[in-house]
Amino acid sequence: MDQGNSITDVIVVGAGITGISCARLLAQAGRRVLVLDKGRRIGGRMATRRLPDRMILDHGAQYLRPRTPGFAALLAEAGSHAAPWPLDDGVVHVGQPGMSGLVRHLAEGLEVRQSAQVTALAPLDDGWRVMLGDQAVDARHLVLTIPPAQARALLGADHALADALSRVAMLPSITLMAVLDRAAARPFVTRKGEGALAWIAQDSAKPGRPQDGPTGWVVQSDPAFSAVHIDLPFDALAAMLAPMLLKAIGAQPEHLLQAVAHRWLYAQVDVPLGQPFLRQGALWVGGDWCLGPRAEDGFHSGQAIAQDLLART
Ligand SMILES: Cc1cc2nc3c(=O)[nH]c(=O)nc-3n(C[C@H](O)[C@H](O)[C@H](O)COP(=O)(O)OP(=O)(O)OC[C@H]3O[C@@H](n4cnc5c(N)ncnc54)[C@H](O)[C@@H]3O)c2cc1C
Repeated sequence: MDQGNSITDVIVVGAGITGISCARLLAQAGRRVLVLDKGRRIGGRMATRRLPDRMILDHGAQYLRPRTPGFAALLAEAGSHAAPWPLDDGVVHVGQPGMSGLVRHLAEGLEVRQSAQVTALAPLDDGWRVMLGDQAVDARHLVLTIPPAQARALLGADHALADALSRVAMLPSITLMAVLDRAAARPFVTRKGEGALAWIAQDSAKPGRPQDGPTGWVVQSDPAFSAVHIDLPFDALAAMLAPMLLKAIGAQPEHLLQAVAHRWLYAQVDVPLGQPFLRQGALWVGGDWCLGPRAEDGFHSGQAIAQDLLART
């Protein structure tokens, strides 16, 4: 086991909007921060997939509709990294070139280690030891911005925060990304679905994306369908959802060029914690799930953690 490391000030686990907004505020205050994420890219559930034909599709968060001055200010500061998208019910914002691009922009200048899955945690006298497989990284302060079930698994069922974590409920979701040829119908841009489809969006109509080629659609299944089918192989999920999409937009099977499924075990917050974070000693735990189902809730959780950490240490 590699233990030859110097102690870092703060380790933030999770490079979604919560972790990055927290790390950014800490770094701006002059703190030394290391962000660890198991994924290959920054963004977490603000996720973007590139498919052939220059197709860019957001398979997690669809767009941002700010509800608080703080989040509106962040989007304004982000400038071209958060483009306005006029919809029938108002203007929303979309990360550029995809939703993950906004989080990547916010992470500029931060030390972020990708493909770094935290496998175990151990308290130290003056901080925490974070295990990445065989590798140990120590920090005086630890911030976890991962789903509550995963935080609980890492901390253990007898940890002081375990009960609070287990009271939060999150719902799964299955996403279909589909590419249709140019001749396919485009009856709407976004729509709440019916039956198993909770949401349908013509993602290729978002700002900054090529408008002259095939159309890209993103479909999200409703919680009941997702709970029953979440363990099926991706091909089987795509084969089930693609015909539902074609029916909903009035397109024929021959229009379908590609269909790819993705599963989110912890997609959307159903029962939030009701406060911006949990803390015990030098450990803070947060995420969207503290306050609600939106990226904006994660942003506020991350900010609140950073402010609390700065005030105490
Ligand atoms: C299908 C879908 C549609 C959505 N639509 C919208 C929308 O339109 N608008 C909106 O505002 N919100 C939407 N949301 C919610 C939004 O995506 C989330 O609120 C937000 O992205 C949560 O950010 P977060 O940083 O709290 O968590 P996450 O983005 O989930 O980040 C957590 C990170 O922790 C990492 N991680 C987990 N475990 C470990 C570990 N052991 N070691 C290292 N890293 C780890 C993960 O890789 C991940 O990157 C949607 C979500 C989904 C799934």
